[in-house]
Amino acid sequence: MKFGGTSVAGPDAIDRVCRIIGARAARRPVVIVSAMGKTTDLLLACLAGPTSACRTALASVRDCAAKAAEALLGERAAGDFLSSLDRILRDATELAERLRSRGRPQAPCTDLDALLACGERISSRLVAAALQRRGLDAAHLDARELFVTESRPGGAAVDIEPTRGRLREVALPLVESGRVPVMGGFIARDSTGAPTTLGRGGSDYSASLAGAALGAQEVQIWTDVDGVMTADPSLVASARSLPLLSMREASELAYFGGRVLHPATMLPAVRDGIPVRVLNSMRPEARGTLIVKDAPDSGPVVKAVVYKESIILIDIHSTRMLMAHGFLARIFDVFDRHETPVDMVSTSEVSVSLTVDRPEAVNAILADLQSFAQVQATTGKAIVCVVGEGIRYTPGIAARVFQALRGVRVRMISLGASRVNVGFVVDEHHLKGCVRSLHSTFFEREGPGVSRG
Ligand code: ADP
Ligand code: ASP
Ligand code: MG
Repeated sequence: MKFGGTSVAGPDAIDRVCRIIGARAARRPVVIVSAMGKTTDLLLACLAGPTSACRTALASVRDCAAKAAEALLGERAAGDFLSSLDRILRDATELAERLRSRGRPQAPCTDLDALLACGERISSRLVAAALQRRGLDAAHLDARELFVTESRPGGAAVDIEPTRGRLREVALPLVESGRVPVMGGFIARDSTGAPTTLGRGGSDYSASLAGAALGAQEVQIWTDVDGVMTADPSLVASARSLPLLSMREASELAYFGGRVLHPATMLPAVRDGIPVRVLNSMRPEARGTLIVKDAPDSGPVVKAVVYKESIILIDIHSTRMLMAHGFLARIFDVFDRHETPVDMVSTSEVSVSLTVDRPEAVNAILADLQSFAQVQATTGKAIVCVVGEGIRYTPGIAARVFQALRGVRVRMISLGASRVNVGFVVDEHHLKGCVRSLHSTFFEREGPGVSRG
């Protein structure tokens, strides 16, 4: 059971979480929590602006956790928690000072990972203590001792086998003896013991890794909305919750920006066929979304409209390379060397367009590409993507997509290789309009989605 930031944002939210876990204790849960509320953003914020702003940010991290502890825990447990809290905040202060004394303090590095890890170190201790206060035999585990990754600051790939081994060795005996392990998501270590993270929003991935490693019946992602919805409800007021999704659909949706799931969440679940349920901690009785390997072939053709902002479009042009073999290999070799993933690609005989979402390496990539092609990079783009298994079988989806995008300059389009998505690139300032227009086309004009004809 993974609880996101809003689900553990304060005493009332944590109290609700304790009740949710308590009511499911017979299913032998393992609990993973994110940092409280906006803690991770605050930890990042303490690297920008003057020293006083840094102090204010850390003080509000402390305030939030200390107030929750006072409301949730008895005097003794609150005292124990507050001394852990102060120890963690001393680490945070030291790390922030060290980072601030360098140029570009927010650039990925081990100290930054260690600083961001403070949020989950705090929240996991607090939730474990709150569960104990409510009579559950919770055991706090330090996720950094369990999750092993490669050595890449800012979001590292997990070493599956050692992580699986550690989780089974440490968490499984606790579960088997009737205890409830509680740990932070997102945080990990590399094989040398240096702190790492799984990247922003990575607690979902921690949860699915743990679920797969421990052979869970189900991975539950508890968040602040009624499951996966037809669109981001903060953008489209009429978005609806989806009762059922296939793993393919959920993977595409997460990959192309549906923030409700971290892009890697579905990987362990897909490999081991473990169902994932997305639920609302504010409304535990709501049905939420069940994600299964092969969802029955029914329901709406299009399931959701998702988006990803801050995309950089790179156009590569070379008449010299016209029809030459090896051109694409050469291009992708550049991206590989700069360790930059490519999200979307489209090609013509003399040009290739692709998108990336990491600005850090773009200048170096452009310099390398310019040695054999004309290159242009444009920032301020967004990817919008329409996802649904039915897209594979249903003619006319692309036509309806284009109809919805009338008047918008589409820079690139792709029918995803899995054929469960149609994605395209637009200017960021057209994003909201595009998402709303597509949502209205597929979900509002014809009642509950578009039925397969
Ligand atoms: P958590 O802190 O629980 O991990 P996140 O903020 O990471 O929560 O993800 C939940 C948010 O994702 C929702 O509040 C919603 O605004 C956003 N979101 C974006 N796309 C979708 C979608 N298709 N369905 C549901 N929520 C979405
Ligand atoms: N706390 C981390 C973040 O805000 C990880 C997570 O919430 O999943 O990105
Ligand atoms: Mg999240």
